Amino acid sequence: TEQTEEWLQSYVEDWVSFYQKHTSDGKVASYIPVLQEADPDDLGISIIGKNGISIRAGDSDIPFTIQSISKVLSFIVACMERGVSYMLDRVDVEPAGEAFNSIMHLEMKQLKKPFNPLINAGAITVTSILEGRTSDERLRPMFDLLEKMLGYRPKINVDVYESERDSSMRNRAIGYYLLEIGFLESDLNITLETYFKQCSIEATVDDLARIGLILANDGVNPDTDEEIIPRQVARIAKALMLTCGMYDASGKFATYVGIPAKSGVSGGIIAAAPPRVRDEDLPFLEGCGIGVYGPALDDRGNSIAGIRLLRHIAKQWDLSIF
Ligand code: GLN
Repeated sequence: TEQTEEWLQSYVEDWVSFYQKHTSDGKVASYIPVLQEADPDDLGISIIGKNGISIRAGDSDIPFTIQSISKVLSFIVACMERGVSYMLDRVDVEPAGEAFNSIMHLEMKQLKKPFNPLINAGAITVTSILEGRTSDERLRPMFDLLEKMLGYRPKINVDVYESERDSSMRNRAIGYYLLEIGFLESDLNITLETYFKQCSIEATVDDLARIGLILANDGVNPDTDEEIIPRQVARIAKALMLTCGMYDASGKFATYVGIPAKSGVSGGIIAAAPPRVRDEDLPFLEGCGIGVYGPALDDRGNSIAGIRLLRHIAKQWDLSIF
């Protein structure tokens, strides 16, 4: 195992240094001022396999805020609190084909619910359903879940939170629109405060890889066999990631990479590659979670080098679920 780990590690290091050169085509997110401070040349990855193998390469120690990746977590927590059918009555599971922060589709006549929980309109709706009076109360179950998965309680990056809160015209517009059409289940201001805080949770690529591994394993922590997320909820989360997780580039990502994944504008991507029957020489590939960080984004808001790196790895290791 140690030998396999070393051998795979050296490959991943080579791939990271190759794709690091691809960051210059991208741009760091600037609409949240503090995110602009990120170094566009950073690229890091962590891969954790079901059998305990763990590989890290590049700038894998840099903490970043999870941004839209939190939309997967809030949806999971809301399903655990209210039940799947309650949630699916209030938010659809169809790709929007629009930018993540699109307002346009909310104006569609006879829209019964937001398109999906991974675009802002859907995510803000989901956050309005979380239980609790204050934003901290609403986020407690998400932090409890994270602590169970990661073994420590992550923190909110206050600078990023305040920066997003103070530059949130568009999300406020979405929020007011949702309020007007009757989709929100609780106070708009508390909902937005909760949403900005969840986006500002700080993590590393290791954390994303660990969460990805648990999702890949249908919600069960492979180290302890504990079911952390109900199987049905983990499966819906992966289906949403595959169809809607990379915004309006989800179809291309499914085609060229083929792994359920979710990106965020700070440059993080979480990927969950479910186990498949494999060549015995490659025991590592029996299901893994992958976390990537590369803050230079393409015009859709996805990490440019991160996607290329994942595409390369998926191809080399035949990770596509198709
Ligand atoms: N906090 C960001 C926003 O709502 C998250 C968006 C993202 O990561 N795509 O604008």
